[in-house]
Amino acid sequence: MSGIWIIAEKKEHALELLTIGRVLAAQMETKLSAFLWKDQNVPEDYIACGADEIMLAAPGSEGQSLDAFIPVIAAEAENNHPDAILFAATARCRDLAARVASRMNTGLCSSCTSVAYDAADRTIKMERLAYGGAAVQKVICKTRPVMVTIPPGTFEQAKAEAGRTGIQRELSTPAPSVLKVIEKKTKVRETKDITESRVIVAVGRGFDKKEDLDLARKLACALGGEIGCTRPISEENHWLPEELCIGLSGVQVKPDFYLGLGVSGQVQHATGIRQAKVVAAVNKDENAPIFSVADFGIVGNLYDVVPKLLEALKRV
Ligand SMILES: Cc1cc2nc3c(=O)[nH]c(=O)nc-3n(C[C@H](O)[C@H](O)[C@H](O)COP(=O)(O)OP(=O)(O)OC[C@H]3O[C@@H](n4cnc5c(N)ncnc54)[C@H](O)[C@@H]3O)c2cc1C
Repeated sequence: MSGIWIIAEKKEHALELLTIGRVLAAQMETKLSAFLWKDQNVPEDYIACGADEIMLAAPGSEGQSLDAFIPVIAAEAENNHPDAILFAATARCRDLAARVASRMNTGLCSSCTSVAYDAADRTIKMERLAYGGAAVQKVICKTRPVMVTIPPGTFEQAKAEAGRTGIQRELSTPAPSVLKVIEKKTKVRETKDITESRVIVAVGRGFDKKEDLDLARKLACALGGEIGCTRPISEENHWLPEELCIGLSGVQVKPDFYLGLGVSGQVQHATGIRQAKVVAAVNKDENAPIFSVADFGIVGNLYDVVPKLLEALKRV
């Protein structure tokens, strides 16, 4: 037996993995299986979106820690010999992936930006960012299964196709974990999720003080978008919450329009806007690296330029 497996807790992440999983499964002429927790998912939705097989695990909630599923996943993999297991690179699934890989004595390639099958040498090749985003590392894993984590947002969500069929099978109920979940609290977001924003105005250290960010907020509002930031703004100045930090240690965004204000565009930030359709920047330094990734740029002081942009937007 062989196949490609996907494992994600949230449906939107699972659908993204189904997109790349479908490509790999087609190239390798194998089946695509999705591991689902019974309480969270409607298996038929995943079959419609590309899964050939659903492996249904017992409910993951109610005091059962996620690590109880490590032996279940590992035992299934030992019996069925998947070629690759793709995990969503969320906090809990990253942990799960590392521990399943360790149990199976195979490697784990984390935070992959691409996964492709090379028919010439029959290997699965991964790419991931290295050296703070300055280089792309190419990885081949020679052990099986190839284990990969993929950051949310890397691939589009798979769309449902009419008439797809697949099989469902139930996995064994895991033995209780020695860890017990005592309480679950939803993390309260202070802001909107900018990974879904169509327009983002990102602020950088070109702003002199926190109150001045209102300029950027007004511009974001006029453009129908959200505000984002560089790491120093969230982590050093604490002017904005960390969820708004874009880049290597923040979120990857894919807006139709990104505008950087007083953002230098260092590679660790620029890596987070690689999927933006149009990039524009305002920076007083004509040699700022942001201009090398921007489609449009204004060399100037943001304190002069932004009020003029707001005026112009009012007119249109
Ligand atoms: C491991 C690692 C991970 C990192 N991860 C991230 C990450 O995820 N996201 C991230 O953003 N950074 C990250 N960084 C930090 C990154 O390297 C940069 O330091 C950071 O992006 C710079 O932020 P900045 O552009 O706001 O500030 P600066 O680099 O200081 O740039 C400020 C810019 O504003 C311009 N400016 C100043 N005044 C004005 C004005 N009045 N009008 C117009 N322009 C003006 C300047 O010319 C300059 O280009 C990471 C670093 C490391 C080492």
